[in-house]
Amino acid sequence: MNFPSKLVEDAVNEISRLPGIGKKTALRLTLHLLKQKDTVAGELAGAILKMRNEVRYCRFCHNISDQEICSICEGSHRDKSIICVVEDIPDVLAIENTSQYKGLYHVLGGIISPIHGIGPEELKIESLLQRIENSAPDERVTEIILALSATMEGDTTSFYITRRLKEKGVKVSTIARGIPIGGELEYTDEVTLGRSILTRVNYSIE
Ligand code: ZN
Repeated sequence: MNFPSKLVEDAVNEISRLPGIGKKTALRLTLHLLKQKDTVAGELAGAILKMRNEVRYCRFCHNISDQEICSICEGSHRDKSIICVVEDIPDVLAIENTSQYKGLYHVLGGIISPIHGIGPEELKIESLLQRIENSAPDERVTEIILALSATMEGDTTSFYITRRLKEKGVKVSTIARGIPIGGELEYTDEVTLGRSILTRVNYSIE
């Protein structure tokens, strides 16, 4: 692209460095900003800078937070005896959006991946073990839910964590993997179907 303005070109280049944004979209966004009141660009830049400088990671669960301890860990309505282990921050948001889970989280910051050179020590696994050990008697952690991707790396990570948790006296569970709601059996891939049979659950009518 040939730009008549070096300033516009610089803005387009910066915006196009964001994931999922190509040069064309970056140009559209830049021209959009150019047409807005001059306060709009200032507010956007200000919000990004403030976020970048001031956002923190929760001391306990490593979720993003404005304070030293995040609102979930601080929350008085959360069940502090259960910790759900996830790979990264979007997973916390996804589970929170279901409104089905009232326990705490632990964000690993990735999963074990030898190909990408990520070993257990690169992840927040030690801090998970410490959290369990240091939990107060009235808020004792009794269950860990492993909510990791259904991939080889996710399984490796779950296996490693489960092994490390063995001596800790906590119940370890994983999220169910199976047929999607509304999904038809014959169209489900065989690995998922096989796993659904193996991890079947009690069916009760009350
Ligand atoms: Zn937290």
